[in-house]
Amino acid sequence: MNVKVAETAGFCFGVQRAVDRVYDLIGSDAAPIYTLGPIIHNEEVVSDLEKKGVAVIGEEDLATLKGGTVVIRSHGVGRKVYDKIKKYGLGYVDVTCPFVLKIHKIVERESAKGVHIVIIGDPDHPEVQGICGWCQGPYTVIRNAEDAEKFTISPGKEVCVVSQTTFNYNKFQELVEILRKKSYDNNVLNILNILNTICNATEERQKEAKAIAGEVDTMLVVGGRHSSNTQKLFEICKKECGNTYFIQTPVDLDSEMFQCSSFVGITAGASTPKKIIEEVQEHVRVKF
Ligand code: SF4
Repeated sequence: MNVKVAETAGFCFGVQRAVDRVYDLIGSDAAPIYTLGPIIHNEEVVSDLEKKGVAVIGEEDLATLKGGTVVIRSHGVGRKVYDKIKKYGLGYVDVTCPFVLKIHKIVERESAKGVHIVIIGDPDHPEVQGICGWCQGPYTVIRNAEDAEKFTISPGKEVCVVSQTTFNYNKFQELVEILRKKSYDNNVLNILNILNTICNATEERQKEAKAIAGEVDTMLVVGGRHSSNTQKLFEICKKECGNTYFIQTPVDLDSEMFQCSSFVGITAGASTPKKIIEEVQEHVRVKF
């Protein structure tokens, strides 16, 4: 079987940095160590860390901790979470990705000036919830075309649009166009300051995945079930190649996926360890 693995598959810079930092903390004076939510959407890594004494906690658990260090993961959190950690006298290590921190700074600065913030992204995603937590005034989260069509604002009000870092670039453009058109159609001169804050790692991964999916007979997207960036990769690949599958590990591979296939493409989400990608690649080469 001919197999092509995307060069951009696997941990991005922000995730690698976060995971490395947590492993570095094990056995240090920082113990006990807690991560505020799973450090990445990958069950294997999270369970390995748990075995090494790193517990996953929720924001509601902060009040019950008796010391220790809380790791703020790459998705980032809102300002109030920092306040809570300090209030309960806990230490913290902040591994919020610098690209996410940049968005926090933009929304904090712009909203403090009275600008209405629009965040294009999934309102249930922790990164988006963290970004909302830095807005000093009104904000709106827009997930899809329906939300964009519904968006209304007083005439002349300035608007700043940012994006969840892992949002699909084409979808972002589509939603921005709806906002622009609404602004013209209603003859309302809202000043739209559009900032594409999708991170390069995501854009590059999505572009490469799309190109490979367009060439192969079967496309495999490897990643955790709860990883939104892996889900988005799957959607992009599925449009190019009907024979696209979302798998977590080699165990999910099935010979039916490769019927009439001679060329297989593999990509993976930002939270998929290299080891799993290599195992999938090996499995496909040897068994199918
Ligand atoms: Fe940072 Fe981009 Fe990775 Fe998100 S996908 S953690 S923004 S490098």
